[in-house]
Amino acid sequence: MRNYKYLIVGSSVAAVSAVKALRKADPDGSLAIISEELNPTYSRPLIYELLCKKMKEKEITFCEPGFFNIFKVEPILGIKALSLHTGACNVHLSNGEEIGYGKLLIATGGKPIAPPVQGVDLKNVFTFTSLGDVKKMGRSLSGVQTCLVIGGGLIGLQVSEAFLKMGKKVHIVELLDRLLAPILDKEGSAIAQEVLTRQGAIIHTSVAAQEILGGKNKKVRAVKLSNGEEIPADLVVLAVGVRPNTELVKGVNITVNKGILVDKHMETSLKGLFAAGDEVGGMPWSASPGAFTMGWRAGEMAAQEACRQKQFFDVSPTHTDALGRLIQRMTGNGHGHTWHEAEIAIQNIVDYYADHFRSEKMLQRVLHRAP
Ligand SMILES: Cc1cc2nc3c(=O)[nH]c(=O)nc-3n(C[C@H](O)[C@H](O)[C@H](O)COP(=O)(O)OP(=O)(O)OC[C@H]3O[C@@H](n4cnc5c(N)ncnc54)[C@H](O)[C@@H]3O)c2cc1C
Repeated sequence: MRNYKYLIVGSSVAAVSAVKALRKADPDGSLAIISEELNPTYSRPLIYELLCKKMKEKEITFCEPGFFNIFKVEPILGIKALSLHTGACNVHLSNGEEIGYGKLLIATGGKPIAPPVQGVDLKNVFTFTSLGDVKKMGRSLSGVQTCLVIGGGLIGLQVSEAFLKMGKKVHIVELLDRLLAPILDKEGSAIAQEVLTRQGAIIHTSVAAQEILGGKNKKVRAVKLSNGEEIPADLVVLAVGVRPNTELVKGVNITVNKGILVDKHMETSLKGLFAAGDEVGGMPWSASPGAFTMGWRAGEMAAQEACRQKQFFDVSPTHTDALGRLIQRMTGNGHGHTWHEAEIAIQNIVDYYADHFRSEKMLQRVLHRAP
């Protein structure tokens, strides 16, 4: 059985960031990454560009060429981690192999939610969160004239825009009374709706998709809405959100509540078992950090036990950027948040980080980078 000092399951944003942090503290400890994807280090926000053929697969990676070699990582790609055995400290893989670990980071990310409607298993029904989705969809698009997207959030609108650029007729079905409701105020939603309508999208709000109807060869032919309307469509995208992917820890004795629960060191309720990224749910941070920041912290903490005693958190570009991004997000046009709300959010982060920055001066320097 292969055995590694550090093992990571998942190889996306959180995992890559953890590797980089970990290598700063432990340049040579044996380290392997398991990913069910063959090309895992790509940017999900850029799969839209791939679908529109504006970028090629190799252009949407967020890692430097030779990442695995540079950071001395053994890649185990195209293979799924099926089960985790914390007593024996090993992971069973889909190719029958068992891999042992000293410390394990779970970075299995999110999984698209399937809405509770009939017909989701028909042909030409897709999700839009991975390279695999884009490839499958790309193979089916040639005869398609009308696409129907269930969900008017960020992912739904991205894929809708791609279809519009390809000259397809697009329907967007949104349960709430406006698009992008969780992140935009009413004015912002109205702008988004107007822009998409001008591009040709037909938007249905305050209505649910009730059933996806199949035709010949079990292919989609229409979608029935809760208001009784039946909209003909030959391709459907399910874009109703993503949930934490906690499959691997099913039956493992750690605390899971929607997502995997971690402490401020990104450690789960089991010592030596860390989690970072979209599969994490609920953490003692005032503002929820992104996968990159979580991964960095998990990597630091897995490799550097000493950090715990020293009680400081190195000021790295990750943390300064995270603050900057938060501020931009909260104060950006149409986001429905005021500076005052942004200040409260920042203060919450500051309260948390205050323990970890080595001096007040350093903290001030970070905050002054804010626009
Ligand atoms: C279309 C789209 C647009 C987005 N736009 C933005 C944006 O603009 N801004 C933003 O901040 N975020 C955006 N996001 C979200 C962002 O991409 C995610 O937050 C981020 O990718 C999460 O990273 P992660 O490391 O947690 O895991 P993920 O990126 O979810 O990756 C997890 C990886 O683990 C693998 N895996 C899972 N289980 C196993 C297993 N058992 N064995 C082996 N491998 C496994 C998966 O195949 C996958 O490769 C977008 C997402 C999508 C889909």
